[in-house]
Amino acid sequence: MAASYDILIIGGGGAGLTAALYASRAKLNTALFEKLVPGGQIALTDIVENYPGFPEGVTGGDISNRMAEQAKKYGTIFFYETVESIKKVGQLFEVKTNKLTHQAKSIIIASGAFYRQIGVPGEKELIGKGVSYCAVCDGAFFKGKEIVVIGGGDSAMQEGLFLTRFVTKLTVIHRRDKLRASAILQERAKTNPKIHFIWDSVITSIQGSGKVDGVRLKNVKTGEEQDLKTNGVFVFIGQDPATQFLKGVVQLDEKGYVVTKENLETSVPGIFACGEVRKGAVKQLVSACGEGCEAALAAQAYVENMN
Ligand code: NAP
Repeated sequence: MAASYDILIIGGGGAGLTAALYASRAKLNTALFEKLVPGGQIALTDIVENYPGFPEGVTGGDISNRMAEQAKKYGTIFFYETVESIKKVGQLFEVKTNKLTHQAKSIIIASGAFYRQIGVPGEKELIGKGVSYCAVCDGAFFKGKEIVVIGGGDSAMQEGLFLTRFVTKLTVIHRRDKLRASAILQERAKTNPKIHFIWDSVITSIQGSGKVDGVRLKNVKTGEEQDLKTNGVFVFIGQDPATQFLKGVVQLDEKGYVVTKENLETSVPGIFACGEVRKGAVKQLVSACGEGCEAALAAQAYVENMN
């Protein structure tokens, strides 16, 4: 059994890092668990333009590192472990990871969400061979190539615009004839000479042996099908909450998001949730940070009432 903490935070995105900052500044013994790198989805974003205080924008990597540094400065201990289960033993929670079992008086869930897959033939087989869910990670591999981007939301437009730095042509394939993305991103995408659109269409398969060389498209209005040659498929069709390890622990909604009360407490006293993993969250960095603060203050009150 590893050490015991006052507050154990699961997830190191904007919500988790802000919760860590507030908890450690309150002199609570705070640990943060993250699978990969601090920053969560933000760390994989090229530029953040809507976080107040950065009129020129700030890179996802930069703001993530700065937030992590700030939490560490006040004493948060970082662990790069994957949480597998949580159970209550007496007054404490036991959190089992892929490496150890840790104990805590209170838990803050900030595990975020992960990119959804389309679920068509060829997708799984060609991940890393032309199929990607991360423009910042994989964009440079597509220098001088032609790619398709699936989705019509903010992620598809923002990541697509970033990808135009590398590619010669990018075709957005969207299942409707209207984008969901915010007006400013729509305008930038529609006026970018490298970006083209195929409307009312979905991908029915991804082709290629060893690497992507094309996709099969279907027009959802006419039923017409066509093949399109492409070197890469970037998928941005929304996210699913990272809550596998919470099944049977706290109340989740039908989509798997954590249900919280007004003070961000879950159905289990002492377990709080914030950011994208939470039902009703608006999925912006600034609101994730706000929720991280709120969850930390509520967890602090819980821990202080225990003592
Ligand atoms: P999203 O807003 O849910 O958009 C997903 C897009 O994918 C939609 O256009 C949707 O089509 C399409 N789609 C969903 N399932 C599909 C399927 N099975 N096949 C084909 N297309 C499918 O997801 P997101 O763009 O990842 O954004 C998630 C949240 O993060 C949003 O709240 C967004 O505002 C926020 N975000 C903000 C920023 C920013 O502020 N700069 C950047 C990224 C994300 P329909 O439109 O037909 O539903």
